[in-house]
Amino acid sequence: FLSLPLQAKMSRPVQARRLEGIDKNIWVEYVNLAVTYSKVNLGQGFPDFPAPDFLQEALKQALGGGNHMLHQYTRAFGHPPLVKALAQLFEKLLGRELDPTTNVMVTVGAYQALFCCFQAFVDEGDEVIIIEPFFDCYEPMVKMAGGTPVFIPLRPKAPKDGKLMSSADWQLDPAELASKFSERTKAIVLNSPNNPLGKVFSRGELELLAELCVKHDILCISDEVYEWLVYDGKEHIRIASLPGMWDRTVIIGSAGKTFSATGWKVGWTVGPDRLLQHLRTVHQNSLSHCATLAQEAVAQGFQRELTLYGKPESYFVQLPRTLQQKRDLLIQSLVAVGMKPIVPEGTYFLVADISEFKSDVPEVPNSDEPYDYRFTKWMMKNKGLAAIPLSAFYSEAHKNNYTNFIRFCFAKEEATLKAANDILEKWKKEKTS
Ligand code: PMP
Repeated sequence: FLSLPLQAKMSRPVQARRLEGIDKNIWVEYVNLAVTYSKVNLGQGFPDFPAPDFLQEALKQALGGGNHMLHQYTRAFGHPPLVKALAQLFEKLLGRELDPTTNVMVTVGAYQALFCCFQAFVDEGDEVIIIEPFFDCYEPMVKMAGGTPVFIPLRPKAPKDGKLMSSADWQLDPAELASKFSERTKAIVLNSPNNPLGKVFSRGELELLAELCVKHDILCISDEVYEWLVYDGKEHIRIASLPGMWDRTVIIGSAGKTFSATGWKVGWTVGPDRLLQHLRTVHQNSLSHCATLAQEAVAQGFQRELTLYGKPESYFVQLPRTLQQKRDLLIQSLVAVGMKPIVPEGTYFLVADISEFKSDVPEVPNSDEPYDYRFTKWMMKNKGLAAIPLSAFYSEAHKNNYTNFIRFCFAKEEATLKAANDILEKWKKEKTS
C-alpha cells in the first residue's frame, strides 16, 4: 500500500453520462439575483402568507401531542392516515373506489413524484411528449431516465377587440399534436392548471389528448399540483376521469400548493396499482420514507377539508377566492405601466407581454442573451422587482419564439402586491414625465 504512488487529483471523469447537458438551471441564478437585487420578489413560486392556522395547529399537535411514534419512520409508501384521507378525497373527485395502500403513494413533494414516474416508465430511446411552456424540470428528468423529450407548444391566438389575452387563448394545434405521437412515444406530461401560463385545459382539449393517449396506448403523467387554484368559476377536469384514461394515468399532487406550505414538501401520486407498483419500486430504492410529522399534519388538514367539502369555510374554496383578488390586483398594476398581462384561469402565476419595453432595456454587447432574460435582470437591478423570463419554460429549439414574456407569482401578501404596485406606479410616472 505504502509503495503506491500518491495521486493528488483524480484524473478520470467523475460525471455520469446522464448528467451531460442538464447541469444549467435557471432557479439557481434567479434566486441569487432576487436575493441580491430585488425589493419585491414575484419570481419563484411560493406564497409569502402563512399556511392556514388549522394546518399549523395540526403540526403542533403532531409534534407535542404525546404520540412519540410520530418521530419515527412511518410506512414507506405513505403514512396510513394520509393515504387514507387522500383515497377518500380522490374517491369523491374521481367517482371510483380506491385502495389507500395500492392506489395512493406519498412522495417528497410533487417533484419526487415526477422523478419516480420518469424513472419507472421511461427507457432508453422512449419519447415523452411535453407541452410548452412547461415546468422546467420535466425535460432534464426525462433525459436522466434516458428518454427523448418531444415538445409541442401551445400557440397564442390574438384576442378580440383590444381585450386582454386569456390563458385560454393559448391552444394546441390538433394536427401538430397528433404528429408528435409515434411508436416510440411512451408517455405525455400534462400540467393543468399549467405553470407558467395558468391555462386550465378545457374538457374538449382533454378529450383530444385522451383520445390520442388511448389510440397510441401511451401513459399520461398528469401534474395537477394547482388543482384547487382555478378562477372565474372555471372547473378543473381530471383527465383520469375520461374514458380509457384511469388505467394509464398517474395523478400528481402537492400539499405545498394545496395548503400553501411549499416548505413541507409533501406530495402524492394517485393511480391504478399496475402503474403505482412501479413507482413504489423507485421510491423504495431511492427516498424510501417521507417525513412522518409533516404527513400526519397534512392528513389532519385533509380530514378537515373532507368534513367541509364544498362548503364556504373550506380552504379549497377560500384559497382560490383570495388568490383571484390578488390576481386582479396585479393585473391592474401591470396594465398601468404598459405591460399586457395574460389573464390566467388558474395557478398563482401570471405571464405578461413586455414587447413594449424594448427601448428601455439596454442591449448587452457581444451577448446572445434573450430579451426576456435581459428585461428581468434589468427590472431587478433598476426597479427592484423580480420576475422570471418565460423562455426558461421552453425547449432550446422553441425558446427564441417566446422571449417577449415574463412570469410573475401573485401568491403574495397584500403588502407585497402593494409594494409591487408602488414600484410600477413610480415607473409609470418616470415613463410619462
Ligand atoms: N409541478 C409543478 C407544475 C410545479 O409548479 C411545482 C412547484 N413549483 C412542482 C410540480 C413541485 O412541487 P413540490 O414543491 O410539491 O415538489
